[in-house]
Amino acid sequence: MIKVAINGYGTIGKRVADAVAAQPDMEVIGVSKTSVSAEAYIAKERGYPLYIADLSKKPTFEKAGIEVTGDVDAMLKAADVIVDATPGGVGEKNRPIYEKLGKKAIFQGGEDHEVAGFSFNAHANYNEAEGHQFARVVSCNTTGLVRVIHAMDQAFGVERVRAVMVRRGADPDDVKKGPIDAIVLNPASIPSHHGPDLQTVLPHINIVTLAMIVPTTFMHMHSIQMDLKKETTRDEVLKVFENHSRIGLVRKTMGIKSNAQLREYTQDLGRPRTDLWENGVFEESVSILDGKEFYCFQAIHQEADVVPENIDCIRALVGTVKDPEESIRMTNEALGLVA
Ligand code: NAD
Repeated sequence: MIKVAINGYGTIGKRVADAVAAQPDMEVIGVSKTSVSAEAYIAKERGYPLYIADLSKKPTFEKAGIEVTGDVDAMLKAADVIVDATPGGVGEKNRPIYEKLGKKAIFQGGEDHEVAGFSFNAHANYNEAEGHQFARVVSCNTTGLVRVIHAMDQAFGVERVRAVMVRRGADPDDVKKGPIDAIVLNPASIPSHHGPDLQTVLPHINIVTLAMIVPTTFMHMHSIQMDLKKETTRDEVLKVFENHSRIGLVRKTMGIKSNAQLREYTQDLGRPRTDLWENGVFEESVSILDGKEFYCFQAIHQEADVVPENIDCIRALVGTVKDPEESIRMTNEALGLVA
């Protein structure tokens, strides 16, 4: 069993912890919190040993009925792999600690590529992870882009990509962020950081991205255009997506044309926390013009798509499963992500 510690039990950390616990070859040896919160109660409910950075706060936790197993250092020492899911920028500060302990660690998309020196996506570069001490699972938007662009590149060759990201304003629980009545250019200058971020995983892809933020909390929506090297048909592209275990086609017959309806559908499927782990590519939007010009819309659930990638990244770093497809299959099966 791979012993996994989750440093930072928030939006991403709590999902990764549950995904780790569901795997047949991994166990959660601990999660960390900085203060008493609803999430600390959930960690207790799930039976995850809880560790805190500042032991002087132990009485506050215990007064709230939450047992503290020890300090974060003890948790990190006991782990084979640390998933750092702290807020962007904190991972960089934690890196020297992991270095000192000689522990493998996975950072999230809020950190720069340089913090890990290796950026990861299971379908694109699983086998390159072995031998690295650190990896970074790229952000939710970049993960969504990498999946679809890599699949198209493998099948038809990608000449260039132009994509617009319409980003959610805040996560559903984030009451301090906006906008609540605006469309914000993010940034107004072009390109946005998403293209260069994609190139940390797929360096050969010619890509320009634009982004804006809108007042919604559930999912980003991408509008993607690609020039392909080989001529193809819409049916061939749909087959590529149908065969990809982390791209889901939102069928025309479902009548879903918005993030809100997709959320309702995911909820009705009984997915934990309404999580859509796969890209939601709208079947109706998949178009090929003049044989080589591809278009689509896709929905990306920001809180969820990076979760299975973290699981594969753990196996890739530890080197216990050599075949990416095998790891992806194990992860998907344990989560209940059916292609
Ligand atoms: P979050 O704020 O929801 O959770 C972070 C957790 O870390 C909280 O539990 C907080 O208490 C804890 N924490 C804060 N400071 C800490 C410290 N010094 N040591 C240990 N724990 C600490 O953040 P999040 O949304 O889960 O984001 C985590 C990372 O994942 C970021 O890099 C972010 O960019 C990335 N990410 C977020 C999303 C998203 O949509 N939320 C999507 C993809 C990637």
